Amino acid sequence: MAETYDAVIIGAGVFGSGIAHELTSRGWKTCNVDMFGAAGHGSTSSSGAIIRFNYSTVPGVEIAWEGNHYWEDFEDYIGVPDELGYARKITTGGLFLRTHDDLHKLYVKCMGAAGVPYEEWTAADLAERLPSIGLDLYGGPCGIDDDRFWAEPTGSIPGALYQPAAGHISDPQLAAHNLHTAAKAKGGEFRFNTTVNEILTTDDASAVRGVKLDDGTEIHSPVVVNVGGPFSATLNSMAGLSGTEAITTKPMRHEVHVAAAPEGVDYENDGMMVADLDQGMYFRPEAGNQIFIGSTDPDCDPVEWVDDLSTLNREITEERWNIQTMRLAKRIPTFGVPHQKKGLADAYDVSSDWGPIYDRTDLDGFFAARGTSGNQFKNACVGSHLMAELINAVTNGLDHDNDPLVVTGRYTGAKLNMADFSRNRTINPDSTGTVLG
Ligand SMILES: Cc1cc2nc3c(=O)[nH]c(=O)nc-3n(C[C@H](O)[C@H](O)[C@H](O)COP(=O)(O)OP(=O)(O)OC[C@H]3O[C@@H](n4cnc5c(N)ncnc54)[C@H](O)[C@@H]3O)c2cc1C
Repeated sequence: MAETYDAVIIGAGVFGSGIAHELTSRGWKTCNVDMFGAAGHGSTSSSGAIIRFNYSTVPGVEIAWEGNHYWEDFEDYIGVPDELGYARKITTGGLFLRTHDDLHKLYVKCMGAAGVPYEEWTAADLAERLPSIGLDLYGGPCGIDDDRFWAEPTGSIPGALYQPAAGHISDPQLAAHNLHTAAKAKGGEFRFNTTVNEILTTDDASAVRGVKLDDGTEIHSPVVVNVGGPFSATLNSMAGLSGTEAITTKPMRHEVHVAAAPEGVDYENDGMMVADLDQGMYFRPEAGNQIFIGSTDPDCDPVEWVDDLSTLNREITEERWNIQTMRLAKRIPTFGVPHQKKGLADAYDVSSDWGPIYDRTDLDGFFAARGTSGNQFKNACVGSHLMAELINAVTNGLDHDNDPLVVTGRYTGAKLNMADFSRNRTINPDSTGTVLG
């Protein structure tokens, strides 16, 4: 006899573990299945875990602001002891350099509408409050083989959007472990080192029936949740859903780098998260007085879509290391060229408009939290809450596609309309088309 659960959750990353925590809190009997050895060992473990609020739609800002409150309250939200301790939010403040006036104004409008605190800084404010960064403008990112890379500055950055509550989570993998511990304490089961090879459906293929594992075992359940991270499109395709959704997802390889802060700069304590579209990058303080460097994937850089995740190169490349550290050297003039190469590569699960899908699917009982596009770690807890509310409502008869669920945020009271995260939404024309969302 196959084992039965109220819900099978494919994946035990920060989302899979979060959804298990939320569903077990509602009395559901859940089982997470993950091919890796422990919670958060997938793309969650590579996350920059940055928390910031500049998104190009009001709902995007509202969910990030609501999500921030979960991290501020994380120990209480977990609610049980964890022998590994707890992940914690490190609030550094964050800057979006004013390099594109239209985007700056859009962010100000959306953050204002969502009630997120912000300040508009002048160049003089920047010079006083973050003296380590230079304010030269170079006319947008380009490769090092482009003459423009070495040319004189074309102007000067006039200011920035400052978000005092921005920061990052100390240890994203530990956050997933904490959520998994909370779910386990309420009876949630986790099967690691186990791969889902098949999605089982009813004879007429209208509803999900469970999953089949790599050892041939079946687990039966009327609800299955796809939280496979970069593997989510593969799982949707296993469920026969390819081509059924307006918003599609695809894995994209992405490198992040870590380098020592320049001599005499205590970036760990005095630095902040900085998004710099002039150099196509973002950076933030990292433990050990280091700087964590990410890319906004500017058009001049090659895009690395991944067809087969089993062949993903997880080592950083000389080429990407060089361009990212040299771009940082243009923004932090005392940075120099670091000798020790450090960093990692993993895959984003990129959606058509770089926004997430938190939704049901056309297969009854099959739900998905996917397309997190390198920018939704921050929303893992609130997103898990939304998914649990949705799963509960739809299994109780809600016609979500025609009468979308609106969830009231636990902390901010914001009305989060889940139609904004629909698999069939219209592509957001204001999206930056990058990790910034
Ligand atoms: C390099 C990088 C930097 C990032 N930086 C930020 C940031 O600064 N801020 C931010 O907000 N977000 C960031 N993100 C995004 C964020 O980290 C991810 O959106 C989030 O961690 C995804 O979590 P997840 O649980 O959905 O996926 P994952 O953590 O990838 O978990 C999915 C799990 O599903 C399992 N799985 C898949 N298929 C199967 C199967 N068939 N059988 C069994 N198990 C399966 C995998 O083993 C995996 O453990 C970043 C992401 C990356 C990769």
